[in-house]
Amino acid sequence: MTLRIERYGDVARLRMSSIGSRAFGMDVSAYVVRGVMIDTGFHHARSELDAARRELRVDAAIITHWHEDHAGNAAMLAWHGVPMLVRPDTEITLRERPRIRLYRRLLWGHPPALDAALLHFESDTLEVIHTPGHSPDHQVVFDRETGTLFSGDLWLGVRSHVLHATENPYQIAQSLARAAALSPARMFDAHRGLVARPVEALTARRAWLLETLADVARRIAEGWDDAEIVKRVLGGEERAALVSRGDYSRRNFVRAVRRGDVGRGA
Ligand SMILES: [Zn+2]
Repeated sequence: MTLRIERYGDVARLRMSSIGSRAFGMDVSAYVVRGVMIDTGFHHARSELDAARRELRVDAAIITHWHEDHAGNAAMLAWHGVPMLVRPDTEITLRERPRIRLYRRLLWGHPPALDAALLHFESDTLEVIHTPGHSPDHQVVFDRETGTLFSGDLWLGVRSHVLHATENPYQIAQSLARAAALSPARMFDAHRGLVARPVEALTARRAWLLETLADVARRIAEGWDDAEIVKRVLGGEERAALVSRGDYSRRNFVRAVRRGDVGRGA
């Protein structure tokens, strides 16, 4: 496992990858700002993460959502008595230890169940905002003091075509608007790192998402099938879809429109 610390003034980026994740060009980052760790990386990187926690004198943590590449070491931090800000629905999920797909177990590791009592943490300057869609429990962290947004998995690039089967893209669009309304001066994405011009980036992602969803809805109304839409509107499927057996794919875009997620997201 690799963990590299990059500095951005008051923010430290803890950039983590495994051999498997690097093969797919993927890594994930946790951040530390004024002693508060935002997300905890994945289980395979637990020793590296724990060393970074000591080095950076972390005394509290916030979890953006339950996914194993973000909350993978939440149980370990709880064992160490680190106070944590975790949404109640995230906590329930972490205590249940959901099954995760094989490719995700291989890339990131299957974290143990959260079994220690959580010491409650609340910050004067770091605010959490519920931004569901990527997962129902997703929240972003906004540093009011510096106008810095830690966006977790809300953004992920303007034209990211790939969705997990459980994502609700319409809800993501609403959450993007909520985040843009904070007018962040700086933004750190959990996979892409520092993002330039965050308000523009969030707004552009939202516009692209809504445009693409409308386009997909139009083709469905015209009777196109999923494979045709993926090929002609979304530019074809990528390798991730094959490896994840469709759990992480462009086809999930089409499925979300067919499911009528627009109603669920309202
Ligand atoms: Zn995620």
